[in-house]
Amino acid sequence: MHFEYERLSALDKAHLWHPFTQMKDYMGADPLIIERGEGVMLYDVQGRGYYDGFSSVWLNVHGHNVPELNQAVMDQLARVAHSTLLGMANVPSIELATKLVQIAPPGLNKVFYSDSGATGVEIAIKMAFQYWHNRGIPKKKTFITMNHAYHGDTLGAVSVGAIPLYHEVFRPMLFPAHVIPYPYPYRHANGAAGAMEETLERLRTLLKAKSDEIAAMIVEPIVQGASGIVVMPPGCLSELAEICKRYDVLLIADEVATGFGRTGEMFACGHEGVSPDLMVVGKGLTGGYLPVAATLTTDEVYEAFYADYEEQKTFFHGHSFTGNPLGCSVALASLKLIEDRRVIESVGAKAGFVARKLAGLTDWPNIGEVRQKGLMIGIELVRDKAAREPYDWAERIGVQVCMRAREMGMLTRPLGNVVVFIPPLASTEPELDAMTEILVQSIRDVTEGRIG
Ligand code: PMP
Repeated sequence: MHFEYERLSALDKAHLWHPFTQMKDYMGADPLIIERGEGVMLYDVQGRGYYDGFSSVWLNVHGHNVPELNQAVMDQLARVAHSTLLGMANVPSIELATKLVQIAPPGLNKVFYSDSGATGVEIAIKMAFQYWHNRGIPKKKTFITMNHAYHGDTLGAVSVGAIPLYHEVFRPMLFPAHVIPYPYPYRHANGAAGAMEETLERLRTLLKAKSDEIAAMIVEPIVQGASGIVVMPPGCLSELAEICKRYDVLLIADEVATGFGRTGEMFACGHEGVSPDLMVVGKGLTGGYLPVAATLTTDEVYEAFYADYEEQKTFFHGHSFTGNPLGCSVALASLKLIEDRRVIESVGAKAGFVARKLAGLTDWPNIGEVRQKGLMIGIELVRDKAAREPYDWAERIGVQVCMRAREMGMLTRPLGNVVVFIPPLASTEPELDAMTEILVQSIRDVTEGRIG
């Protein structure tokens, strides 16, 4: 076993280039190499177990190595692993599209598959753009996004991204987008009401002046994830949707992180009864098993593309693995488990349990805010609580906390100074109890200076 670790570790360092990772840092530490998973646990090649405290980047729903999901893959594998959706269909892709339309907000009647959140976002952007073109209104071609937005790493998604650390270097190769503030109550002088008002006012002003040039607005509904799990004030999303509708601007809801029960509703839009014109889902769609994403849209958008071929209104977009049958099968099985096990209904009680476990944290000197919607939790660490002064970026306080948590047996990844806790929805109370204990202890160890 030990030799195997040494061998894999050397090969990892020799050949893998890890995402979102400064490889120079990576080289300095012993890599964690996962070999298997079981329930909410992941095990490394040396046999150590870790709670999956970030759902393997926010996507695991039912835990790992789930018999029903394994079976769905194997059953489909015995039929066909892949066939294309170019000019033909396959059984699971039809069944899944039908199911998605049933559970999606009303009006989203058409499903276009892809294979990651970013490609799903690309599709939404291109569809919105071509929708206006096809309707003979090509002037409507720009996009609105929100400050600190993250929609994935392909170029269209980066163009509507607004996290300077990730996106700025690419700016010269991107299309420009209008950026309005995402309401961030903790860092707004007038709190939630002020933050929301500023957002809505900026949107109204922009649309009053320029709605004839704007194709769509893209938003992470209710929770902006990668910026630090920032939760919108209640009513904000429905107001945004209302304003977009009034000015004839399409609304794209990026539910990649929030979809499939993560925030306590099947989709975050459901908290405020919002039906977007386009909705992107990924991550949890397959329970976190396989790379399938989907862009859902309305009959109205679809019909703008529906024409004689010579009219040149076809949507020329697709990926080799679009509608992959293995992925669609496991997605169907995951959605069945969500219903059979009443997963969405269970999130409220589990979220309440976590909230009670974390309630004391807000009194700690280095904790600025604990933010939570369902089982999506972010804990913002600050150097100076009274002044809300962040830790210096270079200190990487969030990384230190997550490394300490790893030593104690839980995996998670920080977002700058925000420690993220996004457990699998299937986590039981005793598991959530153990995970929050590690979370709290690792924050204490690092902020009290015992570690790091
Ligand atoms: N949109 C949002 C809101 C996300 O959180 C993410 C991933 N964290 C993406 C898009 C990109 O998804 P993927 O990594 O599957 O491309």
